[in-house]
Amino acid sequence: MRFYRTGCFRRASRPFTDGKRGKGMQGILYIVGTPIGNLQDMTPRAEAVLREADFIAAEDTRVTVKLLNHLGIKKEMVSYHKHNERERAERILARLESGEKCALCSDAGLPAISDPGEFLVKKAIEQNIAVVPLPGPNAALTALCASGQDTMRFVFEGFLPQNKNARRERLTALQKEERTMLFYEAPHKLHKTLLDLGEALGQERSLTVCRELTKMHEEIVKTTLGKAEERYREEKPRGEFVLVVAGAPAEHEAPRIELWQAAERALSLAAELPASEAARRAAAESGHPKSAVYREMQRRKKTEP
Ligand code: SAM
Repeated sequence: MRFYRTGCFRRASRPFTDGKRGKGMQGILYIVGTPIGNLQDMTPRAEAVLREADFIAAEDTRVTVKLLNHLGIKKEMVSYHKHNERERAERILARLESGEKCALCSDAGLPAISDPGEFLVKKAIEQNIAVVPLPGPNAALTALCASGQDTMRFVFEGFLPQNKNARRERLTALQKEERTMLFYEAPHKLHKTLLDLGEALGQERSLTVCRELTKMHEEIVKTTLGKAEERYREEKPRGEFVLVVAGAPAEHEAPRIELWQAAERALSLAAELPASEAARRAAAESGHPKSAVYREMQRRKKTEP
């Protein structure tokens, strides 16, 4: 097991233990959450770390400079984004090794959560460099706590893959997921994602659409996948979205409809889809196993006029 020094557990009010940097002393990588819309969500500690760090590694320096200007902070920034993270990480780690303190920021929310940072944090830990996280704004958890969905167990899915096969695989894997699921989505891809989620998990599945959290046009709507898809078929989505989707009913729970009803649903879907796909969707919607729906479908086809 690898241990590494974080060195600042007791630094509740002061971001750093001291202002000095001795020879051979290692630096610290601070992970700094920044607001997801409302600048007042910047914590005093996060502000102090930005003020006192030797430099800031920012996903987009043009975005972070606006926050720094708002806070009246002038600080050296280096860009650190998904296209340069490997090469840039080496330089940042070298500076940390020499004892500097770096504040890692993404455009909004927590770095390393659907944002650059994971690689740098892994490398810093490998090199025994202290990594200090500052709790801060995060869109997924902000959405979850206000969603009205089950919060005891949940799974963060971030953005669904764009590649067709990878996306289908992910959605299939999620059909049996019993925990509440959290998705990020860009507005121009929202409708397609609602369509795909509805097909995979069932139109009746409960969903909370969380839009523009912490901003002027914040909206939190508890609905279903089918109804949200209908809404955004008509309306152009605006702003940023988190989708909080209820998990599948537990396997031991009674299915929501009878098997014969699921088979009827599959038969009607089979007018436009291959039988196996129709059975898969009806199974996902009803909670019955796909094989049972398929068998019942075939039986009804044979016995009904
Ligand atoms: N690292 C960030 C975090 O901790 O939440 C997430 C960054 S990810 C690149 C951006 C996505 O987060 C957006 O596409 C949207 O799905 C979600 N998001 C960010 N801010 C949001 C907000 N104010 N309201 C709703 N969703 C938001």
